[in-house]
Amino acid sequence: MAYRPTARTEATRLVYRQRLLDAARRLLAEGGYAAAGISALAERAGVATGSVYNRFASKQELLAVVFRHVAGHELTAVQQAWADPKPGAAVARAASFMLFAQIEPGHACPMSMSHAVVPVLQRDGEVGRDWLPGLLSRSYDPRLIAPGSKSGLTFGMGMTEKQGGSDVRANTTRAVPMASDPDGRAHLLTGHKWFFSAPQSDAFLVLAQAPAGLTCFLVPRVLADGTRNTVRIQRLKNKLGNKSNASSEVEFDGTWAVRVGEPGRGVPTIIDMVNHTRLDCVLGTTAGMRQSVSEAIWHARHRSAFAARASRFSSATTPSSLTAFESRRTASSSSP
Ligand SMILES: Cc1cc2nc3c(=O)[nH]c(=O)nc-3n(C[C@H](O)[C@H](O)[C@H](O)COP(=O)(O)OP(=O)(O)OC[C@H]3O[C@@H](n4cnc5c(N)ncnc54)[C@H](O)[C@@H]3O)c2cc1C
Repeated sequence: MAYRPTARTEATRLVYRQRLLDAARRLLAEGGYAAAGISALAERAGVATGSVYNRFASKQELLAVVFRHVAGHELTAVQQAWADPKPGAAVARAASFMLFAQIEPGHACPMSMSHAVVPVLQRDGEVGRDWLPGLLSRSYDPRLIAPGSKSGLTFGMGMTEKQGGSDVRANTTRAVPMASDPDGRAHLLTGHKWFFSAPQSDAFLVLAQAPAGLTCFLVPRVLADGTRNTVRIQRLKNKLGNKSNASSEVEFDGTWAVRVGEPGRGVPTIIDMVNHTRLDCVLGTTAGMRQSVSEAIWHARHRSAFAARASRFSSATTPSSLTAFESRRTASSSSP
């Protein structure tokens, strides 16, 4: 059934959203970033449109959502601790990630992946040279054009296949070296990925079976000459929650890819990206708990029932207090 917020729920949401935006602005100002337009960006990313939490009417609408929500990526501008590494940069980035995840959780996954891929590409100078400047540029460029012509780049990740799940050694996607590449870096991939999040990204790290074994590859969505690479979206995942973040199933059919890291060392290569995204899962969950407890406390303080505020009833305050305690405990233990 479609989600229809009541006037009270909507008022609550707006109050908390305003507080979050104020906190985000303060954080941005402290970091010397321009905060103008942050509210409009969050609106465009879907926070205000109840429709994104509904079922989609058609496949076209689903596909439109993939691209509509790339607006959320503009927020990546403030998330790149790698671009300006200094003591406390990771803490500041974690704090801003938790804040922005409360404003618009749908953009957290692509933002996390674009952050998490950096150390992998820093270790592979040859591939990193082409992709790191765009990743660290602090600008978001939604155009579907050659990566070299873009002012900013975003990344996704594809490991899981239908038959293997977490056991990526069971992957069957094949990578065949292109004879035309004397360096042996370029390959053509054939197969599928069962989870391929943020398919609107500019490039993806994926795992595939090369002659030397499971190897990590970078798959661009648009090739250097501006033509589209063969990344066929079969379906967008119909997830229980967080529908504003698209995750997809894709097929590769002679898809151009460049090797990242050593041949046959796919898991040790991609695992750094995986680890960083999993750390962000903790931060994102902490953000969700923080938002829940704020809304529960606000509700208990302002709801009138039987001529009294609900905050006077222990049945309303006890769950809120417990949730507040858990939320704070999680926030302190998830700080990097
Ligand atoms: C919203 C969403 C987005 C995702 N995005 C991506 C993405 O972008 N890229 C990507 O590659 N993947 C992505 N994933 C996939 C995710 O990494 C897989 O869901 C995960 O690896 C689990 O695989 P599976 O669901 O097939 O479960 P399985 O691996 O089949 O596991 C099923 C159950 O069996 C248990 N189990 C499995 N193996 C063992 C064992 N050896 N011993 C004991 N218990 C075991 C597991 O704990 C689990 O409870 C995404 C998943 C979700 C839900």
